Amino acid sequence: MHRITRSHLVHAMGPGNVPALTVKEGERVVFETCDCFEDQIRHADTRYTQLDWRRVNPATGPLYVEDAQPGDVLAVQIERIGFGNQSVMMTAPGLGVCGDLISVPSIRIIPLENGFGTLAHGVRVPLKPMIGVIGTAPSRAFVSCGVADAHGGNMDCKIITEGTTLYLPVNVPGALLALGDLHAAIGDGEVSVCGMAIAGEVTVRISVIRNRVLPTPMAQTADTIYTIASAPFLDDAANLAARNMFSFIASETGLSTEDVVDLLSVAGDLQICQVFDMQKTCRYALPKAIAEQLGIVLQKEECAI
Ligand code: CA
Repeated sequence: MHRITRSHLVHAMGPGNVPALTVKEGERVVFETCDCFEDQIRHADTRYTQLDWRRVNPATGPLYVEDAQPGDVLAVQIERIGFGNQSVMMTAPGLGVCGDLISVPSIRIIPLENGFGTLAHGVRVPLKPMIGVIGTAPSRAFVSCGVADAHGGNMDCKIITEGTTLYLPVNVPGALLALGDLHAAIGDGEVSVCGMAIAGEVTVRISVIRNRVLPTPMAQTADTIYTIASAPFLDDAANLAARNMFSFIASETGLSTEDVVDLLSVAGDLQICQVFDMQKTCRYALPKAIAEQLGIVLQKEECAI
C-alpha cells in the first residue's frame, strides 16, 4: 500500500506542485491528513489569536497518476476514512451565517466515542466521516485549498465519504490529486465555520476514465449520482449544479431539453453543501433508480464501489 505522510502538505492546488508520490491507475493510496487548522489546536485553552491563519486548510499530496492526461476524468474511490477520538470546532464573531450573533471566539475540543461526538449539554451527534478538501490541480493558476471550484477543492460536501466515488477533472498531466480537511461530522451548509475537524487517514483507489466528457465534479454512491458545483453566490452554485446534471442526462440519453428539465424538477434533489466559504457549493442528487430507467451508467459496478 502506498502512503503519503503529513509531511507533504500543500495550501494551494496548482500545476507546479511537486508530486509527493507517483502511482499507476488501479493502485491504492493512503493519505495522512491534518485537520483544517493544520493541527494547531491541541487543547481547549488554545487561544483564537494564537492560530496562524496562513496554515489553514492544508491538503496532503499531490499524487501524480501515471498516464492521466488533460481531458481525462480521475475516479477516486474512497475506501476508508479513519481518525482518532478527538475533534475540534471553532467559532468567532463575523464568521458563518450566525457570525453577527457571536460576541467572543470559542475553541472547543469535541470528544468522539462509540460513533458519536459529544457537544454542549451532553448532546450526542452521530459521526459521519467525510472529506472537506479534495481536488486536482487547475490548469493555469494556483487556487487556495480553502476555495472550491471546478477542480474540486474545499467543497465540504458531506456525501464525499466512505463508499463514494468522486470524479474530478484531469487538467494537467498526472492530475495532481490532493486531499485533507476531514470532518467526523458536518451538516449541510457548514453554517458555523467548520464541522468536527479532525486529522486522519484516507484510503483511496484511483482509476482514469478516458474518452468521456463528464460535467465534473461528480460523485456516485450506492444509490445516487451527484453533480457538484461552486460559485461566488449560492444561486449561481445551485443553478450550475442542476445545469451540470442537465448536461449529463442530455448527453447520455438524447432526451429533449423539455423532457430533461421535467425530470430534473421532480426526480432529483438540489442540495446545499456549504455556504461559508468564498465560493458556495451545491449538489444535485439523481437517484440511480431513475438513471437506470434511462440506461445511464456513470461507472460500471465492478469499477465503482
Ligand atoms: Ca472545509
